[in-house]
This record gives sequence, structure tokens and C-alpha cells, in this order.
Amino acid sequence: MALKTADEYVERLKRMKPNVYAHGKKIKRDDPMLELPINTLKFTFDAVNDPELKDLLVTESHLTGEKINRFTSVNLSIEDLYTQQEMKRKCCHRVGGCTQRCMATDTLNAMGVISKDIDDEKGTHYHENFLEFLKYYQGNDLVGSTAQTDVKGNRKARPSQQQDPDLYLHVVEKTSKGIVVRGAKNHITMGPYVDEHLVIPTRAMTKDEGDWAVAFAIPADTDGIKIISRIVAPRKRVELAAPYNNYGVSDSVVVFDNVFVPWERVFMCGEWEFAGRLALTFAGFHRHSYCGCKPAVTDIILGTTALVAEYSGVDKAAHIVDELTELMIIGELVYASGIAAAAKAKKTASGIYTPKFIYSNTGRYLAGINIYHEYDVLASIAGGLPSTLPAEEDWLNPDTGPDLEKYIQRKPGVSADKLHRLFRFISDYSCSAMGGWALYAGVHGGGSPVMEKIGIRAEYDLESKKQIARYLAGIKDD
Ligand SMILES: Cc1cc2nc3c(=O)[nH]c(=O)nc-3n(C[C@H](O)[C@H](O)[C@H](O)COP(=O)(O)OP(=O)(O)OC[C@H]3O[C@@H](n4cnc5c(N)ncnc54)[C@H](O)[C@@H]3O)c2cc1C
Repeated sequence: MALKTADEYVERLKRMKPNVYAHGKKIKRDDPMLELPINTLKFTFDAVNDPELKDLLVTESHLTGEKINRFTSVNLSIEDLYTQQEMKRKCCHRVGGCTQRCMATDTLNAMGVISKDIDDEKGTHYHENFLEFLKYYQGNDLVGSTAQTDVKGNRKARPSQQQDPDLYLHVVEKTSKGIVVRGAKNHITMGPYVDEHLVIPTRAMTKDEGDWAVAFAIPADTDGIKIISRIVAPRKRVELAAPYNNYGVSDSVVVFDNVFVPWERVFMCGEWEFAGRLALTFAGFHRHSYCGCKPAVTDIILGTTALVAEYSGVDKAAHIVDELTELMIIGELVYASGIAAAAKAKKTASGIYTPKFIYSNTGRYLAGINIYHEYDVLASIAGGLPSTLPAEEDWLNPDTGPDLEKYIQRKPGVSADKLHRLFRFISDYSCSAMGGWALYAGVHGGGSPVMEKIGIRAEYDLESKKQIARYLAGIKDD
């Protein structure tokens, strides 16, 4: 049975060799600090049995015919791309933001496309390696990171020009059995609770940068890998339980200190011409994912803002109606970009469909530049209370609780309990470590807005637009 349970996933993690460090100490993968982040991943296993989600989550492996979790699948049709997008929006509603698991889905898709292209051009066997790995990944319902972003050192210098060659992960040795790699990947989401690290290049490489053009999959507890994590989760509640407070996240510096990777786990090694294509193909898939998950974030902000306006009795105020409409437009335009990217998808030699990257990029860009604005709308309409709300213990204290209940009242008919719950949620969501994380993730995750602009320019046919201008102005061809 390829579909595994959340408990089976957690058991796997417990069996792994400890190589995770967090907040000053070495921890095991069942450390209580990781409970909430791991809950987010557990959700993706439970969701295959959820009546509202299972049709989106359960699909079939084209390699074995077995039922698999869509988070482990590759997109073999336009329909698959639509479903991926919808699945992400609906799943994010449940965990209050990023489900995290889509990153590996996008990397698998990109590895599948590019390993085939390399084989077709160079006569290598990377795609066979990839398909064997995919079978194993799907058959065990694995969770993977995307270890793409190198630490990068001096941003203006290329990998080969850095003062230390390890600032971009690279191959330091090749043997008949495999390769040895050294370097570190930065910001790696899910680092402490993945089965595998899926490693791909950050950027295009030049002819003399073959050692940096490397892609592979490696078990996360392999000797030489050190995962240094920062864990973020909503504030702990005392009694006032809420679904949002069950989930957290962790991002890591993943250090590869002379890590051996067997050849059968290698999907690119030295083919520098394909490094940029792999990096951009991953980005194209991942930005398509954002066109599903980011509208979910907008939905959460929009719904919360509308509710706080209603509870405060100001939901009909013209400026509020107007700002809510703006949020509707942002969310649906981002989603529409994803639909367009899927509708214009292309089948590649591997059989995998790639979304039209211009539209993945426009959607992701629009989401990235609006995230602070969306939180701004929520903050301005919620007023200051999310930042000054007394602690939950004061609501539970018989000396202070009744006062707080009396003085939180707003629109008649809305109970103090509802108001307390809503403002505590807004505080946890937007005025907290988790809120700060989500803002930065909203700007940079999947690539900073400047990178989407670069992606759009790379694919855009600007000449054809100049031709329109020439025609309308009556200018003969230059
Ligand atoms: C919450 C979160 C989760 C993430 N998860 C993952 C993950 O799981 N896996 C993964 O691989 N990555 C992940 N990322 C990384 C993400 O893709 C990067 O943050 C993003 O690509 C930007 O890279 P950077 O953070 O190194 O910023 P920088 O490279 O430092 O860029 C910052 C800014 O500097 C400028 N700049 C940088 N380089 C140049 C240049 N050469 N020329 C001119 N200007 C330049 C640009 O204005 C850019 O916006 C995550 C990021 C965040 C915030």
C-alpha cells in the first residue's frame, strides 16, 4: 500500500539518526519543539481520508498503478496541474497557511523534465535513476525538502568566483560508486522532518562551473549532513484551543560536509548547460504552486478582516468594503494566473506537463508584492487590539476575566467569547513570530519578486510588442 498514515511517517522520523540542531542543542526528531511543524505534514497524510479533500489528494502512480498521495506525483496532464492548484488552496485553508509538502512535488516534476532532457542530449542515464527514485518515493509516501537555495556568499560573484567554493554546493570527488558533495543550502523548509533532501542548483552555471551543476536525492540523516533549524509556531494556548494553533514550521541551514551520494541517486553531475534550466523549471513549477497557496492566504486574511469588521459593526463602511474588494481581486488574479499557466501547459519529452512559466511568474510576483499590503488591510481594520490583548491567563483569572469580557463588547449580539477568539487568532496570525515568518515567506519563498521579473523578461516576446507599435505608427521594418 503506497498511501502511508501520519503515524507511519512519524515512526520513520523516530528511526532516523539524530543530525538535527535547534535553538542551541542537538535534538531528536521526536523532540516536543518539532511537534507543531510535524503536525502540518501529518495533515497531508490524514487528508487522503478527508471526505472534502480525498478526491484532490489521492491519485494514481503512472509507474506502478498504485494509489498515491498527489504530493508525491508528477503532472501528466493539464488536469493534473489544475488539481494541484486547487488542492493547495484547499489544504492551506486547513492549516492556516503553508502545507510545506508541495516543494518536493515541484522539485520532482522539475527533476523529471530535466533529467530526460539531459539524457536525450548527452546519452546519460539520469532519467532512469530519477524514475527508480520516484517509484521508491511514491511507494513509501515520502516527504522531501527542496534544497535549492545556496548560501551564495557575495551576491555579485559567480559560484566559481567566491572566496570559498563551498558557498555554492559542489562536487568535490567522483568515484566509480558515486560523488562526494560539500556546501550548505539555506532556508530549507521542513529540514528536520523530511525523509529525503532533494538537491538542485540555485542558478545557471558556466562551462567552468560543472562541479556546481549537480542534482540528487539523499536520505536526510546521511553521514555528513547537519540540519540547523529555526522552529516557528503559534503561541501556545492555555485553554482556548483553535485549529490554527496546531501547526508550525521549521526552516534550516542544511550543511553537506563531504556527503557521499551513490550514482543511482544522481540526476545531474557536470552538465552545466542544464543547471539554469533545472533551477528555472523548479521555480516555474513552484511559482505555479504559489498560485494555489497564496490565494488561500488571501482568503484567510480576507475572511478574517471581513469578520472583524462585522463583529465591530463597521462592515458596511465604504472604505472597508473597498479594501475587502481589493483583497478579492489580488487573490483571484493570482489564482487566475495559475489557471492560465495550466491551460497553456506544455508536454515535455519526459511526459510531464510544465505550466506556462510567464503566468506562474506573474501570479507569484503579484502575490509577493501584495503580501504586506494584505496584512496592512487586516491590521488597519482590526485596530490595535491584536497587539495589546491581555494574555489568555487574564481571561481565565476570576479577578480579571469578567472585566475583560465586559469591556471587549462590540456589536450587540456578538458574544465576548467570539470576540476574544477572533482577536486572539488575529494576534497569533499577524502579530507574532509566526506572522513575521509568513510575511517574509510571502515575499521571498519560491523566489523574491525581482526573480519573477527576471523570469518574465526571459520568456517574454518584447519584439512582437514593438512590432505592434511599428505597425500602428506606420513605421516600416527597421
Ligand atoms: C520562509 C522561507 C522559506 C524558504 N524555503 C526554501 C526551501 O525550502 N528551499 C529553498 O531552496 N529555498 C527556500 N527559500 C529561499 C528563497 O527562495 C530565497 O529566500 C529567495 O530565493 C531569495 O534568496 P535569499 O534569501 O538568499 O536573498 P538574496 O539572494 O540575498 O536576495 C535579496 C535581494 O538582494 C538582491 N540581489 C541578490 N542577488 C543579486 C544580484 N546578483 N544582483 C542584484 N541584486 C541582487 C535582490 O534585490 C534580492 O531580492 C525560502 C525562503 C523563505 C523566506
